[in-house]
Amino acid sequence: MSKLRCLCSELLDLNLIPNPQAFIVVADTAIEDIVQDQIQICNDATIGQETRNDRLFFSLLSMRNKGVAEGVECPQCGRIAIFGRPGNDPPDVWYKVEKRREPNLGLISSANQLKRH
Ligand SMILES: [Zn+2]
Repeated sequence: MSKLRCLCSELLDLNLIPNPQAFIVVADTAIEDIVQDQIQICNDATIGQETRNDRLFFSLLSMRNKGVAEGVECPQCGRIAIFGRPGNDPPDVWYKVEKRREPNLGLISSANQLKRH
């Protein structure tokens, strides 16, 4: 699955790396396991730096950890498609925006505003 048709009919490109519309959803209960997994990869002296970087990246994105999902926000309507597993088609859940603090301010835009503060 490389493109996803939003319920509003917008076509979302899922091949972009990094994808400015995508984010990772992590359950609060999964964070410790993820951190431990990342530490274990960092401490593995048998792997080279490039392999280590790949493993760190894919250990999160491959969703080996329970409680990790991927979200993609539609830039047109703000709906969020949630994938419990990569490549699930259709998405497991669609969320629709009911209220925004500011019009046209999506989830990712909000998060990017927080990064600057
Ligand atoms: Zn949409």
